[in-house]
Amino acid sequence: MSDVRSMYIGGQFTAARGGATFPVRDPATGETVAEVPDAGPEDVRAAVDAAAATFPAWAALPAVERGRYLLRAREILLARADAIARLITLENGKPLAEARRELEFSLGYLDWFAAEARRAYGEIVPSPQPHRRLWVIRQPVGVVAAITPWNFPALMITRKVAPALAAGCTVVLKPASATPLTALAIAEAFAEAGLPAGVFNVVTGRRSGMIAQAFLDDPRVRKIAFTGSTEVGKELMRGAAAGLKRVSFELGGNAPLVVFDDDDLERAVTGAVAIKYLRVGGQSCICANRIYVQEGVAEAFLAAFRERVRALRVGPGLEPGVEVGPLINEAAVAKVEELVAEAVAAGARVTVGGHRLSEGAYARGHFYAPTVVEGVREDMRLAREEIFGPVAPVLTFRSEEELLARANDTPYGLAAYLFTRDLSRAIRVAEGLEYGLIGLNDAGGYTHEIPFGGFKESGLGREGGRDGLEEYLETKSIVVGL
Ligand code: NAP
Repeated sequence: MSDVRSMYIGGQFTAARGGATFPVRDPATGETVAEVPDAGPEDVRAAVDAAAATFPAWAALPAVERGRYLLRAREILLARADAIARLITLENGKPLAEARRELEFSLGYLDWFAAEARRAYGEIVPSPQPHRRLWVIRQPVGVVAAITPWNFPALMITRKVAPALAAGCTVVLKPASATPLTALAIAEAFAEAGLPAGVFNVVTGRRSGMIAQAFLDDPRVRKIAFTGSTEVGKELMRGAAAGLKRVSFELGGNAPLVVFDDDDLERAVTGAVAIKYLRVGGQSCICANRIYVQEGVAEAFLAAFRERVRALRVGPGLEPGVEVGPLINEAAVAKVEELVAEAVAAGARVTVGGHRLSEGAYARGHFYAPTVVEGVREDMRLAREEIFGPVAPVLTFRSEEELLARANDTPYGLAAYLFTRDLSRAIRVAEGLEYGLIGLNDAGGYTHEIPFGGFKESGLGREGGRDGLEEYLETKSIVVGL
């Protein structure tokens, strides 16, 4: 059973002007969950028209009033948490409890930025001349085009839309074509919160290149806020250069998780399992992508790790007790299979899993068994590319210096994790890792209060924390003659 949803432009829930739609499928069963409009360039233009028309009035509202809309939308979404978590599971596949945690965490950005925008202070700068006064004020960037991925259908949206709206920008969002339903549920909450028409718009479509080009070609769009692959980020950056649009990018990762021989192995094993398998089944940009274990403890670590991975429960996300859901689509399963097969051909060993799951309850979905691959080297693609699946490549190392050189030898720099009880080593390694987020004896991730973003090819700019608001503000200096 599927139904037809509308996208949200200028305060109206609407079909695509051309009438086209596309299906959203459940990755656990392949069934169509709903049909959504397939936007064309005229729909994108209408959304930018709406966002541009309402921008001056929205920007002029005091921050505290803009924040009230965010807080109202948050209450509405929280009241619907059960239904929206289910929607996230249906379109993304992640287990229901995890979907619920994502939704609740995503709403934290609404109250964080509602408050933070009230502190978008300017400055009065001492003037070097007696007959002048110098003021510096912060103003919203303008119309923002946000493009988001499917792996966190709610979080990737609020981490952009909350700071943008709080800062006084208006937004046109293009969610991933695999997961537009959560975006539309967020739009419904904003509509019911009374957000003025045009402040937040959602265009759904699967012709993402065309939609992005329409944003890039429109001089009224002042900023592109993108989360997704590094490859598409680079393409957007080239396109943004023509109009020198502001950009902020959250891109791919290749996170190392490092276990030193002085550590309490229990917490390292728990951390490694959590950050490798229990976040969208390994389809997260901050998932451990390479596990480095110091030689002396490799056997002990692996014995416990293999046992925990074997015990993980895989299945459709709506089934109680499931810890690892399906991958997003067949292409994702095929890519994981290929990376594992190449590593094995080059000498690595699969010690847990190592195959797709296609029997019984798995038959209609895109399931891959939680997998451990040992004897991995950095010349294998499995250790160089983002795996985006429930596969842990394990590598061993001898010294701290060697580890740092190997862990940093990647174009990515999003997240890294290290486990050690040696304080000096912890500080040296945390400071030496070229990554934007370090989990030091912690693989729980991050939170609203701190900036999140990547070094090197993992991104530009930061989301969350105080920095997250800065991304949506321009600085204006006013020179006053007396
Ligand atoms: P993706 O293919 O780059 O897609 C992301 C978004 O861009 C989607 O909305 C997609 O639309 C759109 N898109 C695809 N091709 C495009 C093009 N040529 N021009 C403009 N837009 C285009 O990435 P993904 O596979 O959905 O997501 C996984 C990637 O996101 C991974 O690399 C992951 O590490 C990264 N990620 C990073 C963070 C972070 O915070 N750093 C967080 C989550 C994910 P369609 O859905 O219609 O294809």
